[in-house]
Amino acid sequence: MNQQLILVINCGSSSLKFSLICLSTKHTILTGLAECLGTPEAQLTIKKNGEKTKTGLVAPHNHRKAIENILTYLKEQQLDQSIIALGHRFVHGGEVYSAPTLINDQVIEKIEELSSLAPLHNPANLIGVDATQAAFPKLPQVAVFDTAFHQTMPEQAFLYAIPYELYTKHGIRRYGFHGTSHYFVAKEAAKILDKKFSAVNLITAHLGNGCSISAIKDGRSVDTSMGLTPLEGVAMGTRSGDIDPGLLLHLQQELGYTAEQLNQLLNKDSGLKGLSSLSNDCRALEDAVLKDNHPQATIALSVFCYRIAKTISSYIAALESLDGLVFTGGIGENSSFVRTQVVKRLSLLNIHLDEEKNEATRFGASGNIASPTSRPCLVIPTNEEWVIAEQTQQVLNKE
Ligand code: ADP
Repeated sequence: MNQQLILVINCGSSSLKFSLICLSTKHTILTGLAECLGTPEAQLTIKKNGEKTKTGLVAPHNHRKAIENILTYLKEQQLDQSIIALGHRFVHGGEVYSAPTLINDQVIEKIEELSSLAPLHNPANLIGVDATQAAFPKLPQVAVFDTAFHQTMPEQAFLYAIPYELYTKHGIRRYGFHGTSHYFVAKEAAKILDKKFSAVNLITAHLGNGCSISAIKDGRSVDTSMGLTPLEGVAMGTRSGDIDPGLLLHLQQELGYTAEQLNQLLNKDSGLKGLSSLSNDCRALEDAVLKDNHPQATIALSVFCYRIAKTISSYIAALESLDGLVFTGGIGENSSFVRTQVVKRLSLLNIHLDEEKNEATRFGASGNIASPTSRPCLVIPTNEEWVIAEQTQQVLNKE
């Protein structure tokens, strides 16, 4: 077989997601997840042609072991020889990386330096590189950064109004995340709208467990709702999104919260989960509203949708024209309820839904769900793995 495959890796501190992608046939051959790494419950699930294989990992239950098992599986399936490179998702590229980069010792050192900006993510992403370098020593590995697409934001959008030195000395500024997703759906939207990517003006809403919204002018990100960390912006599954910074001082000074407790509160116990006291899962909250009229679930979803609509509307200041709004991510792709609640607040932007199309465009479907006289409102399933594979190949072609 002559196909050229790219193995895409998204490595967390206790999990490792992967996809094997064939760029020439535009086909995802298999996907998988190693989870509970670092514990005896560690297991590996591989999905190929709709069939799932689940196996426990023997000790040491670590990332290297998981990759060894994946390699054994790829050999059994006679796929290993067709892999030409690995593409790694990296969360933070700081201001150093605005494009995908071939990984070498120097790059690893630089990414380690950037870890202070993403202490939860970059070190975990590097564990993935270490494990895959051991298993695939001869293959090139490429880093694709979540922050890269937003490196085109102008100063007025990326600076916080705090002493400038904090930016120049410590890199404290807004970076934005979900860049590969915003880039992917913006490119797809340009095709649907029959516009050149370099001339398309969009607002893209990535609504999943994490949520971010971007303003895209002439194919470039000019503003986005996440900031120095993924905590800024709209409310999310368990993250608070924007709050009054004075609230942190109040919690510290009046209620004795420690840094660790604040982190837990704002990243893990807030958002849909915190407001509903029920779940961080949008589907569960919609069920609770529709079946039981659950008051806190109703409030949680109202706050969630209002803040999304408010952020979308604020990008009037970032854009001079708008070709359309795009929904993506688990909620954006599937929740006709959230889309209705958001778009009903956007009539000043002349965005109105065709409710039948809205209802019908779910579960992997894509298309324009706007009414005939409305500005386009597109639903586009994201595919971050595809972008990583494509950009990995582009780096190889350049080398
Ligand atoms: P992640 O950010 O972890 O990749 P996803 O993009 O998969 O997350 O999004 C997860 C969110 O999508 C959850 O809140 C889930 O409830 C929501 N979701 C998935 N399917 C539906 C659906 N059919 N209706 C409403 N919400 C959905």
